[in-house]
Amino acid sequence: MLFKVLPKYRLQALFDALSSRRIIGPVEKARRPDGEVLYGFDAICRFEDLRLDYTTTTHSPKKFFLPHREVLATFSLSGTTWEKMVDDNAYLPVAFFGMHACDINALNKLDKVMIDSSYPNPYYAAKRRSTFIIGIDCVPQPQCFCRSMGADTVLHGFDMFLTDIGGDYFVEVQSAEAYELLKGAGTRDPSSHDHALFMKKGDMKKAGFSCQVDATDLTKILDMEFQAEVWLDWGKKCLSCGTCANVCPTCYCYGVQEYVDLDLRGALKEMHLYSCNLIDFAEVAGGHNFRPESHTRLKYRFYHKHRGFVEAFEASLCVGCGRCGTACLAGITVPEVIASVRREAQGDA
Ligand code: SF4
Ligand code: SF4
Repeated sequence: MLFKVLPKYRLQALFDALSSRRIIGPVEKARRPDGEVLYGFDAICRFEDLRLDYTTTTHSPKKFFLPHREVLATFSLSGTTWEKMVDDNAYLPVAFFGMHACDINALNKLDKVMIDSSYPNPYYAAKRRSTFIIGIDCVPQPQCFCRSMGADTVLHGFDMFLTDIGGDYFVEVQSAEAYELLKGAGTRDPSSHDHALFMKKGDMKKAGFSCQVDATDLTKILDMEFQAEVWLDWGKKCLSCGTCANVCPTCYCYGVQEYVDLDLRGALKEMHLYSCNLIDFAEVAGGHNFRPESHTRLKYRFYHKHRGFVEAFEASLCVGCGRCGTACLAGITVPEVIASVRREAQGDA
């Protein structure tokens, strides 16, 4: 990895150098009555709108790669012939300016399923291929447990990563495109003092976590506690609304629907993101539902994240961003659910 130092006053030059791409970054979306700012990722035209000091975003960057609804194909029929049109919906090269480590790690996990698996998703892959990512360091929020999930730092999946070290950004450079861009942005090589500032920033971040999950032996504990009473308790609280999957940067379950024109001359196939917490998620033709109770669905989501995915890819599908717990109207959080299962395994639930 190559390291550079970029003076903060040169950040706009970097932003301007990306003008051939559609720039997406964190912006202020709304304010709560108590003044708390809500941030979201959105297309940005003006450098002044970029909020690199954002806390977190309600929705993750996933929505740009796996939109909530996406047309997969359209069909037109004429006489005895028909034509299928497929568009991967990746129109303009995109630059993400200011993605936190957890969200870059989340995309790296989605890649394993959406690109590297036996059945890749070409729509997702096309958008990923044309994306340039600038990461930015963050300050741990009360709901963040990314450190417990090994997602507080990131080693790949970005073009450059900026760490605020005072008057400058310490820049990790990963791609040739990032290197070329930085040539015109007025960078310098880091000194040992810059290295020390970078290390200090990392130590401050480590010390800033107030939320954590003990993931030691978690897959084994989940196997032992599959029938535990505690799942029934969480199931009673769960509203089966699917909000947790909606805001989660790594949930990717989806359904496909087809719509046929009334005159039978055209049709459309559309993908909808879905949630395994929704009541009909495991319902099959004939009406049988394999997971009719809310606790079985909630449990399934946890087992997919923290057991099944670990078995397949040697890492959890949760990056510890805390979004699901913040958004859940029933107050169900990953740290509390996992702590309760651990307590049950210890016999003191
Ligand atoms: S855990 Fe919370 S957000 Fe998720 S489905 Fe249940 S009530 Fe909704
Ligand atoms: S399960 Fe919750 S904490 Fe984990 S990645 Fe998804 S939204 Fe973030």
